Amino acid sequence: MVHVLKHIANKIEQRERLTLDEGMVLFQTPDLWEVCRLASRVRERLHGKRAYYNVNRHVNYTNVCALSCKFCSFYRKKDDDGAYEYDVGAIRAEAIGAQEAGATEIHIVGGLHPWLPFSYYTDMLAAIRESAPKLHIKAFTAVEIVHLARIARRPNDIAGVLRDLKAAGLGSLPGGGAEVFDDRVHDEAFKGKIRSDKWLEVHREAHKLGLNTNATILYGHIESLDDRLHHMDLLRTAQDEAIAAGAGSGRFQTIIPLPFIPDDSELEHLPGPSGVENLRMLAVCRLMLDNFAHVKTFWIMQTLEMAELMLQAGADDIDGTVVWYDITKVGGSDTHQETDARRLCQVIRNAGFEPIERDTLYRPIARDGAEWRVAEVAAV
Ligand code: SF4
Repeated sequence: MVHVLKHIANKIEQRERLTLDEGMVLFQTPDLWEVCRLASRVRERLHGKRAYYNVNRHVNYTNVCALSCKFCSFYRKKDDDGAYEYDVGAIRAEAIGAQEAGATEIHIVGGLHPWLPFSYYTDMLAAIRESAPKLHIKAFTAVEIVHLARIARRPNDIAGVLRDLKAAGLGSLPGGGAEVFDDRVHDEAFKGKIRSDKWLEVHREAHKLGLNTNATILYGHIESLDDRLHHMDLLRTAQDEAIAAGAGSGRFQTIIPLPFIPDDSELEHLPGPSGVENLRMLAVCRLMLDNFAHVKTFWIMQTLEMAELMLQAGADDIDGTVVWYDITKVGGSDTHQETDARRLCQVIRNAGFEPIERDTLYRPIARDGAEWRVAEVAAV
């Protein structure tokens, strides 16, 4: 194993792509700290001492969902206690509040609501664009996009639906809904949700329209290590294509490894990943996804303390101030999960890095209170 790790270290030094077998070595070696050290080396090569955060606001416009994914504790059926949907006016008010508070981004995702019409989504985007024009709108996972194509009665016109959403104000796509790209796992844990081919199709179409997107992997439930590596390989290939398409194409910005959190889900008998596993997973993502500029540790699911460690193991981004996040409740906390920029900067400094506020497109931000402007073009 030591010899193989040395070979992998040499390849990383030479900037050569790692094979899936080498990825398996990274998962199985007892030398976790060497894996973290290698990931940190790549991270420093790309970003030096910089580590990014952003000032954003999350809006989960409804928790009503046509599906019932086993791992999900967020969804409700229409008449369930706690089921809700925001009207466009409420979302507009949220956007205005976010802009006044100095947010650069509004991040919008929700359940697959069975009855809201397609116009609800385009109206929502247009209302935000009109009332809070400085906010970048990052909205709708690939799963939601496919759902919107269905309710628009254009199930085979993903490109057209994305074009309409972009015209209404959509700025980029978040990375959710990817789960794990494996049909066995998918059909057992996420039945009814789109499979990997459709998820990747949505992101490819978005890239063709010049929209940047992000990617996730949900791990630590019933998937195998091979499944995780296969997932990374498919993302790497799709990113190769986006890069080959040239300057007008969008691309994946960030990979966000998401640990499965069993609480309140149908899979709550599973233990979920340990802290050590979370650290290794993040480092392996950094090493395998050599064509992704950024690796994010999503503090809402990892905690701010783990985010500090992860910055030393390959992460360069800890996401944002968030304010409100309904989807996952770590340790049974309520849904108001919020931090401030000062705390995020402290986390980054604790880990030995220089905090850089970024916008959604990773352009550094110059800020004076709630006033901000883009300071320079993105470094990568
Ligand atoms: S994960 Fe998404 S699609 Fe699945 S039940 Fe939850 S909200 Fe619905």
